Amino acid sequence: MKVPFLDLPARHRKLRNELREAFDEVLESGEFAGGSFVDRFEQEFAEFCGVSHAVGVASGTDALWLGLMAAGVGPGDEVITVPMTFVATVEAILRTGATPKFVDVLDSDCTMDPDALASAIGPRTAAIVPVHLFGRLAQMSEILQIAERHGLPVIEDAAQAHGAEDSGRRAGGFHFAAGFSFYPGKNLGALGDAGAVTTRDAESAERIRRIRNHGQRRKYEHAEVGWNCRMDGIQAAVLSRKLRHLERDNQRRRVIAGWYETCLSDLPDLRLVTQPCGSAHVHHLQVIRVPERERLLAGMKEQGIECGIHYPVPVHLQEAYAFLGVPAGSFPVAEQCAREVMSLPMYPELSRAQTEAVGEALRGVLLEPVSH
Ligand SMILES: *Cc1c(COP(=O)(O)O)cnc(C)c1O
Repeated sequence: MKVPFLDLPARHRKLRNELREAFDEVLESGEFAGGSFVDRFEQEFAEFCGVSHAVGVASGTDALWLGLMAAGVGPGDEVITVPMTFVATVEAILRTGATPKFVDVLDSDCTMDPDALASAIGPRTAAIVPVHLFGRLAQMSEILQIAERHGLPVIEDAAQAHGAEDSGRRAGGFHFAAGFSFYPGKNLGALGDAGAVTTRDAESAERIRRIRNHGQRRKYEHAEVGWNCRMDGIQAAVLSRKLRHLERDNQRRRVIAGWYETCLSDLPDLRLVTQPCGSAHVHHLQVIRVPERERLLAGMKEQGIECGIHYPVPVHLQEAYAFLGVPAGSFPVAEQCAREVMSLPMYPELSRAQTEAVGEALRGVLLEPVSH
């Protein structure tokens, strides 16, 4: 059985009528850049996250940058984050003029190690950016305690965690602000690029709205130097429709993660990174750790099952970030994760039969004797 890594056409086939309705509304209104569709989606998304403000922007990368800007982060500051993430987390920090300071992750779920965070805080630390990696919330209660003790703002990278919740709080609503991505493959995906910043601070929301639109207060009245990173009306209208399905989709992802757990839990040399853990996980990706990743990837490909790697190289070891001068071996847990992680197909449209086919294929390749 062939199983694609992601099946966006299948997802949009189900939603075709709703999406056409959204297109028609936007075409009739002419509100293409910002406008009432964006306003409406912002309200709906803020409500979904249980936070007072959401501001629609052009991408998740912009959202993180603006969240940091609103927290007052700038040149001379240090921002603590993890190297086991997508590079955008670090790009956003650098874009403010601040310096990223990495701390290692936990072996159990590859999110920020709170002890490492506590010992990395110094006089120049201006903010903390934990990443809710693969759809699982970072260790927020410990991270928030440390942040509060030092009076530091936390900006969540929630690009993979729309709807993940713990003790009545949802991703995006834990502290000062959060950046969300609506890149097509995310749990809530647009039909192109889009993102949102959530924040509990009204003044910051206003400032972010200004910066995303050329720093404009009123037409041709520019209060500060801004940028153009507005959300498209068409993306907002699409996202409003898709948001209605998000909770059910996340629930379905949890069911699929449960099937995977049943198929895979007794396999030697295989660890589930994205283990079901109730509502704190929205299973953006299904990630396992295996020592013999290359052989496994090749074996799965042979059987028509597409897998991925998130992420093969931690950010501090990427060529572009060599200038930070962080040598290999600095973050042994993250570096080991990057060598062993492998992502299996995971999306709400995946059937039980497909999930089991992935599990069986994996079992076959793992247990087959290695030929020399
Ligand atoms: C997708 C992603 C981003 C960036 O979002 P874009 O919308 O692609 O700019 C940032 N951080 C993480 C962890 C992501 O997965």
